[in-house]
Amino acid sequence: MIDLRRNFHQHPELGMEEKRTAGVVANRLKGLGLEVRTEVGKTGVVGLLEGRGPGKTLLLRADMDALPIQEENNVPYRSRNKNVMHACGHDGHIAMLLTAAQVLSAHRKDFPGFVKFVFQPGEEGFGGGRLMIEDGVLKDPPVSGALALHLINRLPLGILGLRGGPAMACMDDFTIHIKGKGGHAANPEEAVDAILMSAQVISALQSLVSKEVSPLTPLVVHVGTIHGGNAFNIVADKVQLRGTVRTHDETLRRSMPERMDRIVKGVTEALRGTHELDYQFGYPPVINDSAMNQLVATAAAKVAGVNGTTEVPAVMASDDMAFFLKEVPGSYFFVGAANAEKGLDKPLHNSMFDFDEEALVIGAETIARAALTYLIEGC
Ligand SMILES: [Zn+2]
Ligand SMILES: [Zn+2]
Repeated sequence: MIDLRRNFHQHPELGMEEKRTAGVVANRLKGLGLEVRTEVGKTGVVGLLEGRGPGKTLLLRADMDALPIQEENNVPYRSRNKNVMHACGHDGHIAMLLTAAQVLSAHRKDFPGFVKFVFQPGEEGFGGGRLMIEDGVLKDPPVSGALALHLINRLPLGILGLRGGPAMACMDDFTIHIKGKGGHAANPEEAVDAILMSAQVISALQSLVSKEVSPLTPLVVHVGTIHGGNAFNIVADKVQLRGTVRTHDETLRRSMPERMDRIVKGVTEALRGTHELDYQFGYPPVINDSAMNQLVATAAAKVAGVNGTTEVPAVMASDDMAFFLKEVPGSYFFVGAANAEKGLDKPLHNSMFDFDEEALVIGAETIARAALTYLIEGC
């Protein structure tokens, strides 16, 4: 498993370009005698393992993409691809799921139903999970539950993190076009200043967070880019704002385009301008099923090296595992991988991220045990 992980680590590929990775995955799955589908959701791979008879179908998912980061670790297995790095632990996720596939295929006569091993492309913002669902990954046979894990250095090796209900936020994005009228800076009365309107729009949008939604409901409305204006002595005729919305609450999320449009419209009209809002629903919130979480916790308790599970706080980050969990009950859990004594404690997406490889066996065994229990005893 460590060799596999290091192999993927040396050959990282960006989202939706995971061709080599997908090839290695598909060959391993075929070698285990699984029915393999490739190019699902562009570069995704699915391996279907059939048990001893009819039963449920459990989906196990790993993400395969790396990040546009130049690795700064000096390890024998450092990335050979310039400016591409497995800095989010997905190399470990692939190695763990391939190992779980190996173990479960050796036990295929011990359980009913199917295990669907899903290796998805483009988790880092590309929505590879959605593409695979559109390509039918939840059908034939129909999936009844889903499990996935993420390595994390926020937890020490030996600790698993679980969160029932809303665990991660949605990731929506928006673009606001603010339109005024160009003119000379010295004659503002003949123009409509799009930059002044933008300043007030940005401020007014924060009233959604502070005054319109309960302080007990987490919400992020973030403007990340602002583009407009050509010279110091010209009144800008248009400005473009781009940003993101994060919340765990699907109802609130669905109401955000209307709420934002009302504010942007009101402010720009009051200042003699016009606007357009383009709101895109991206990753949904990650909502975990508490029974599936319990299944994982019970499995983890039997795994050597696990010192316990902990309830982790919900976060405003997002993950496209959410697309699977929106369709079927499941658990997305965290496997502690930090070892400060070995200097393995950098955060995800850091150019010096690395983790204690002992976490691999914990993750693989936990997910394999949970899968067996789910298929044999139910959940
Ligand atoms: Zn990541
Ligand atoms: Zn990740």
